[in-house]
Amino acid sequence: MIYERVALIGLGLIASSMFWAMRRGDVAGHVTGYARSAETRDTARRIGLCDTVCDDLVETVKDADLIVLAVPVGAMGAVAEAIGPHLKPGATVTDVGSVKQTVIDTVGPHLPAGVHFVAAHPMAGTEHSGPESGFATLFDNRWTLIVPTEQSDGDSVTQLERYWHALGANTERMDPDHHDLVCAVVSHIPHLIAYTMVGVADDLRRVSDSEVIKFSAAGFRDFTRIAASDPTMWRDVFLTNKDATIEMLGRFTEELFALQRAIRTSDGEQLHAYFTRTRAIRRGILEAGQDTDAPDFGRAKVER
Ligand code: NAP
Repeated sequence: MIYERVALIGLGLIASSMFWAMRRGDVAGHVTGYARSAETRDTARRIGLCDTVCDDLVETVKDADLIVLAVPVGAMGAVAEAIGPHLKPGATVTDVGSVKQTVIDTVGPHLPAGVHFVAAHPMAGTEHSGPESGFATLFDNRWTLIVPTEQSDGDSVTQLERYWHALGANTERMDPDHHDLVCAVVSHIPHLIAYTMVGVADDLRRVSDSEVIKFSAAGFRDFTRIAASDPTMWRDVFLTNKDATIEMLGRFTEELFALQRAIRTSDGEQLHAYFTRTRAIRRGILEAGQDTDAPDFGRAKVER
């Protein structure tokens, strides 16, 4: 067993997947859970998510050895403020937020001395949210980035790494700025592009009517899946990772203009060379075992 008592705060996709993954092995003795709404807490009780679902934050974290903040990034500071005075000395607080510097800045000041704070981010997810969307295999062979803070001691970091390994993930340590830049490239900008692409197609619908949906398999469908992701979560990601997103967006638009020029000037050589380079990147992802070649982009079937 890695932690005697684990408290999950927020019972959505990530927390519920963590619970089902914990249940595959001897990872945690007792798991408590809390969500903001009575509706989510009732759903959690009905599906057996967590050993105890609490109606109160303080009760949730009582005696917990690991506290996982699994709420939208914009809500983390307020949750930390509410639980800070009630944490057990020696406990570890971690989070799963998609942005790290903001979480460290907003959570850290609310945690008392003697409580370890180790930020983290599992690089795994789906477009679904809520307590019923989680599944035990979500983290298998995916990466969780571990971002130690000034409030983490060495043992708390290695114990959290062991915990993520037990959940099926690989781990790598990173500093917060680098994390936010990498995630802007591999996750945040692609989501923004998907949101934009689907928005543009929606405007066009007035022109082409149902053709957008009818012929959506030709590339567009994958954008619609990403653009169905939770609006609150993604609003918070862009509001809290402004600098990295804007920097990467600048680079993206430069490339887009270069391709626009190549099309306008009929520069087939440049287009072909560009697409050959990007195809090789996809091959690298497959070879690294981070996706499969299935037409549905290798999304795992949901299994508990
Ligand atoms: P989710 O399915 O939407 O669930 C969010 C949970 O947080 C719900 O239980 C919700 O409670 C609770 N919550 C929302 N606002 C709250 C507040 N102000 N105070 C207390 N609880 C609140 O979200 P998720 O996809 O699991 O994401 C959780 C975190 O993981 C986010 O920080 C996100 O950035 C990160 N993450 C997500 C993904 C992904 O692909 N989804 C991947 C990696 C990391 P109610 O249901 O009662 O509203």
